[in-house]
Amino acid sequence: MKASTHIVTLNLTDPFGVAPYTRSKKKVVILTLDDGEFVCYGEGSPSRYYNETLVSVRTAFKKAKRLLVEQELFYIEPLMERIAQCIPRDPTARAMIEMAVFDYIGKHLNIPLYKLLGLYPPEDKQTSFTIGIDTIDIMLEKVEKAVDYPILKIKLGRDAKHDIEVMRRIRKRTGRALRVDANGGWTPEEALRCIKILADLGVEYVEQPLGRGSLRRMAELKMKSPIPIFLDEDVHRCDTFKELPDICDGINIKLIKTGGILEARRMLTCASAFGLKTMLGCMIETSVAITAAAHIASAFDYIDLDGNLLLSNDPFDGMKVEKGYLRMPERPGLGVIPRRAPKI
Ligand SMILES: [Mg+2]
Repeated sequence: MKASTHIVTLNLTDPFGVAPYTRSKKKVVILTLDDGEFVCYGEGSPSRYYNETLVSVRTAFKKAKRLLVEQELFYIEPLMERIAQCIPRDPTARAMIEMAVFDYIGKHLNIPLYKLLGLYPPEDKQTSFTIGIDTIDIMLEKVEKAVDYPILKIKLGRDAKHDIEVMRRIRKRTGRALRVDANGGWTPEEALRCIKILADLGVEYVEQPLGRGSLRRMAELKMKSPIPIFLDEDVHRCDTFKELPDICDGINIKLIKTGGILEARRMLTCASAFGLKTMLGCMIETSVAITAAAHIASAFDYIDLDGNLLLSNDPFDGMKVEKGYLRMPERPGLGVIPRRAPKI
């Protein structure tokens, strides 16, 4: 078994703004497992916000690599437990490794991952398409360009006055479903003022209105909010779930936060036990990580898997989106294949 990682620079079609920053490129780590019969893929798209970097992902992978070579990969649950003991603080690296191992198992059994997991393909699920923060004119232009996507997720949280104005203008232009992610950018006063207006505009829900760690304030906001509040930056593991029903209505689960699909499914079970709605989210990442997540999408209430749709140079081909609906590749494992380099 050969296992190696390399870094890929992804270019975004347009600059992508969220409350803390705007970016036009993202670097990710691609893991390749090659046993001579199949080449299998995993991906880690680290976020500095969670104290992970390209270096930390690759260092964690090097630490865990011997387990991949020594162990029987089909026994993925005990394997991932050992890997979690080896690299407990590196969920992005664990998610990347787990994707490649699931790809390996699916390819050897010749079935797609959703079937291996006993799940339906997510054919009736629609993903939202994200509009990053920009000037009002550019955001309106992006809304027009995203005509093929019936659900829009609008990034807000940098300036409450701009947020209210842009949402009013977007609502005037379109009757499509709107969701909002403030990425923790509002003060409690701004959040309440904005959320009341967003409710009048028919916004379905608001994600992470207040900064990470403001849980008491979030609970006060939830009591006053006319629309559901989802947490993203604040939720990583099941052990905080007991308090969550007082704080939010739903949670955003991402593979880089949970450390992979197995833990994401455990979180789903916990969320439903606590009466929380679930959303499946992503980072800026290639079709490898997006398709991996899409394999479990049928189990979620809301889907936000558009990180690859924002790229101009996705090096992989995998899950497709048609009118917002997820269309899985008819191939075993993750079902992703490298795109051919364009002819020059
Ligand atoms: Mg979010």
